[in-house]
Amino acid sequence: MSLKHQIARKEIIDAGNQMVNSSLVIGTWGNISVRIVDEDLIAITPSGVDYDKLISENIPIIDFEGNLIDGNMKPSIELPMHLEIYKKRPDIGAIVHTHSTYCTAMAIARKPIPASCEDLIQIVGGNVRVSEYRLPGTDDLGKVAVEALDERNAVLLANHGLLAAGKNLKETIKIAFICEKSAHATLLAANIGGAIELSKEECDIMRDFYLNKYGQR
Ligand SMILES: [Zn+2]
Repeated sequence: MSLKHQIARKEIIDAGNQMVNSSLVIGTWGNISVRIVDEDLIAITPSGVDYDKLISENIPIIDFEGNLIDGNMKPSIELPMHLEIYKKRPDIGAIVHTHSTYCTAMAIARKPIPASCEDLIQIVGGNVRVSEYRLPGTDDLGKVAVEALDERNAVLLANHGLLAAGKNLKETIKIAFICEKSAHATLLAANIGGAIELSKEECDIMRDFYLNKYGQR
């Protein structure tokens, strides 16, 4: 087992523990994966195990054809969706999928999270679209997710939940939290006249700032 695999597994366990103590995850629902750079492999949470019970060997290492390379448990049933995104989006290094309450509210109403909150626009690239409906665990779900994710870092899966995809796991968890907060704020704003969306030009300026100028460089 290479050091890279160990680091990927530890990252997933740490992220799982962080999420379980937050509003993002209830029980074992949702899943987390990371790309193992230069190896065409991913590490992903196993199916149906409590996040706070996971140890390193439980985390399956999987190749791009879906074969188990290492680990003593079977992967999340959403493996095909994760693989489809890693294959089609080389910029994506980590995926977090949750059934958090406010994102689920938007997903069951099949309403996008509007491009209204500045932090959402910066980190996701605009509004969070809703994919077409497909059954969980299917290859088709991955295809419609990739389609609706186009040039964004998050997508709502119709009648299901949120998928956040970022350059690394730390950023991706942040995306999931900001989507949940923005979905919550959108629903609160609906009571007082509704969220106002910003223009494409304003979105592009904020996105560029986040990608190219934000933080310590
Ligand atoms: Zn799910």
